[in-house]
Amino acid sequence: MTIYRPLPEYPHLSATDTGLLSAIARGEARLTPEQGLELLTAAPLHTLGRFSDAMCRSKHGDDIRTYVIDRNINYTNICTAKCIFCAFKRAGHEHDAYTLEHEELYEKVQELSDIGGTQILMQGGMNPHLPLDWYLELLNGLRERFPHVNVHGFSPPELIEFVNFFDPPGSSLLEQVRWVLVRLKEAGMGSLPGGGGEIFAPAVRTKIGLGKCDMEAWLTVMYAAHSLGMFTSASMMYGHIEGYADRIHHMWAVREWQDKALMDFGSGEVPGSIKGDPTVKNPETGGHYLGFISWPFQPDNTALGRVPHYPTPEDLESGVSFPGDVVAKLDGSGTKDMDPNFGRRLRLSGSTEYLRTQAVSRLMLDNIYSIGSSWVTMGPHIGQTALFYGANDMGSVMMEENVVSSAGTTYCLDEAVLCRLIRDAGFTPGQRDSKYDVITTHTTKDSPDLKVTDWSAHRTQRLHIQNEAETSERVEVTVGKSDLQKTE
Ligand code: SF4
Repeated sequence: MTIYRPLPEYPHLSATDTGLLSAIARGEARLTPEQGLELLTAAPLHTLGRFSDAMCRSKHGDDIRTYVIDRNINYTNICTAKCIFCAFKRAGHEHDAYTLEHEELYEKVQELSDIGGTQILMQGGMNPHLPLDWYLELLNGLRERFPHVNVHGFSPPELIEFVNFFDPPGSSLLEQVRWVLVRLKEAGMGSLPGGGGEIFAPAVRTKIGLGKCDMEAWLTVMYAAHSLGMFTSASMMYGHIEGYADRIHHMWAVREWQDKALMDFGSGEVPGSIKGDPTVKNPETGGHYLGFISWPFQPDNTALGRVPHYPTPEDLESGVSFPGDVVAKLDGSGTKDMDPNFGRRLRLSGSTEYLRTQAVSRLMLDNIYSIGSSWVTMGPHIGQTALFYGANDMGSVMMEENVVSSAGTTYCLDEAVLCRLIRDAGFTPGQRDSKYDVITTHTTKDSPDLKVTDWSAHRTQRLHIQNEAETSERVEVTVGKSDLQKTE
């Protein structure tokens, strides 16, 4: 048995030193935050692609790239928080505020099960009207009916509000969260999604996520889950008011807490150093982060989206830097008073910025097994290109999504198209389960994509959009011409 130890750092080397990048790709070294920032802001795009791809191949091999069949279920849109990037939440009095009945939720999972799905991603607003028993009954009901479907549910901000709503016993936040999590886990909850990560740096977080938990609380929830042997994922939403250093700080914090989880609860080998990661396969390894996914902020229908874009004509005239970069510090210590325009300028991210950020996340997060492509925000073809910028996983077939589609992005792909995208990129598509174990490798003519004889007539059918339920229960979407996107 090998005890986990973080990889060595070489801070005296430039981030673009090919010897260092090769060692990182092989799982023999790790980036410092300073080197991560240098890569993100100064490395050629091709260099990022070359080495993040090499690292991905070192971890996952050259053959299989995965996807999962799961369903995003947003059980309620009533929420106490006031995130200014969110077009999904309702206060509760609006005509389209909703909380789904248990039977409605079972119907959705049945539809998923009918197409071979293995997981639901269940997240909601933070609804103060739902007691703990509502969740326990739901989870018990799901386990009874669908024992083969993993419930990947309830992001850290929801868990923190569960603590506030249910007032569980415990002398610390960690103990209180564990009290709630033990009960949810006993009732059938399998793993935690990384929703609500956004950007950890306090200056950014307090501006965009009013009423949402801070970084310490977010990470504590995940640590509590890891202590119970549960797997979780982490996320980052960028491309708004944050600076580049904030993105690196965010990745660094996830890496640090992953080190902590692996050292405190794990007993496996160094993750990321071999193909077929032992943090996934080794049953002795304890709970930890399995995957990381990041995506750019989607501005439509949101208050944050109405903030002026940098640079404004006045910014150009005065030659000021982007306020987010003035405030951002690698240790997360920046404060809003460092620039009077902080939070008043947006810097949106496009495809190149997305690929750069994802590639750096692959290189920074040496102790995280999977990097997910965010085709849901970026579209199928950039999502496919992301497989050459560090991503090994195409995420989920999208049966339903309500959160990001509320913000104007609505890509929708089915299993055949996902498989085709993976195969056209030169890989073999593999359906995975919630632990990233491949359950079906598509090599025969019966593969979902190879069964399609006429792609020009192929349509992806989005089964349901909660907010449009009254007007349109089923919406047909032509692949690549419409948009639908993922959750927080
Ligand atoms: S992003 Fe989530 S927590 Fe924030 S307002 Fe929307 S539903 Fe609520």
